[in-house]
Amino acid sequence: TSMTSCFPVINEQCPSSQQLYHNTQTVNSQILTANQQVEDNLVEGDVFVSNTRNARICKNCRWPKLLKTVKVPYVLSGSFTRPEKIQIENAISAFHMSTCIRFVTRTGQTDYISIVKLNGCWSWVGRTGRSQYLSLGTGCLQKGIIQHELIHALGFWHEQSRNDRDAFIRINFGNILKGRERNFKRMDTNNLNVPYDYTSVMHYAPKDFSKNSGDTITPIDASAQIGQRDGMSENDILKINKLYVCSKYTNKAVRSIGNILTMLTVTHPVNVPSSYSGLPPCIQRVGQYVGEHVQSHLS
Ligand SMILES: [Zn+2]
Repeated sequence: TSMTSCFPVINEQCPSSQQLYHNTQTVNSQILTANQQVEDNLVEGDVFVSNTRNARICKNCRWPKLLKTVKVPYVLSGSFTRPEKIQIENAISAFHMSTCIRFVTRTGQTDYISIVKLNGCWSWVGRTGRSQYLSLGTGCLQKGIIQHELIHALGFWHEQSRNDRDAFIRINFGNILKGRERNFKRMDTNNLNVPYDYTSVMHYAPKDFSKNSGDTITPIDASAQIGQRDGMSENDILKINKLYVCSKYTNKAVRSIGNILTMLTVTHPVNVPSSYSGLPPCIQRVGQYVGEHVQSHLS
């Protein structure tokens, strides 16, 4: 087992469960706020869908796997500021440390994600087979939201759209804004044998699309909290690894931030997350000064 403990880290947190939820505004409510002007074009609040695709996961909308990693080419719009670009790269690095997904700078590929700063936060679901926009507009440039949109682009719908969701949440249609009922539709999904995840970064918050400040979604487990804004949950990571058939893999990376050299060596058995519960995945970054070497093996 691994990923349960923190050791000295730089630029990453291993938050407690409480810390996860102390912010009142959630990923989805922030996304919806940012999207107020563009909602009419979107399904489920922040998702563009082609009409050939109605499942959360489709086989031909996965990104191609070469050897052991899945390369997802992307380009960042020049309209992002330097701090915004760093924010995006930090959100991306969590995928590199915990999955076999590798977001790589586009080098001529015909299908790739074009990350742009348009109105609102939104993405296509899965690979479209050509250049596809992923928008991170004003209000969208934080880790949980960036990861949420990238997970859409990898092929996932919202958690509350799962075909088994009615065993875990109640949708209160009477509280939903008129015209937004489709955002709460149950979809035909492949859940990859991963349990329903209240803590998913892909889950809506209780009051999203509420017309009267009443809850639109009520967890059946009364103690469950939904709509966290921190970042990918352990099961979000597990689902990505299962969809892309990532088995055990090792990640090595060296990165310099200022005069700090950051090196990573991480081996992840993919099925680990079921063996622990409660805390979100603890993404590690070992920090040391240039010239020092640190190796960490998680196995
Ligand atoms: Zn979304």
